[in-house]
Amino acid sequence: MSNFVSVILCSNCHSRYVEITEWTNEKKAIIYCRTCNNREEITNFTLGRCKVSNIELQKIRDTKAVPGKAEK
Ligand SMILES: [Zn+2]
Repeated sequence: MSNFVSVILCSNCHSRYVEITEWTNEKKAIIYCRTCNNREEITNFTLGRCKVSNIELQKIRDTKAVPGKAEK
């Protein structure tokens, strides 16, 4: 059995090392890229974490959304 998940990649450097480092008093998440220190506030979303294979990680990168185009 397999499960479909979505993964957040840093749009600045394409790193997969993205995490929520803190929450604001308004319960907005601060999403942070450990690779390039990119930081953004998001509302009404959170992140989970699991281990994926290198093949699955490559599929994630191959199907990522880019400006003007949704993910495949
Ligand atoms: Zn980054």
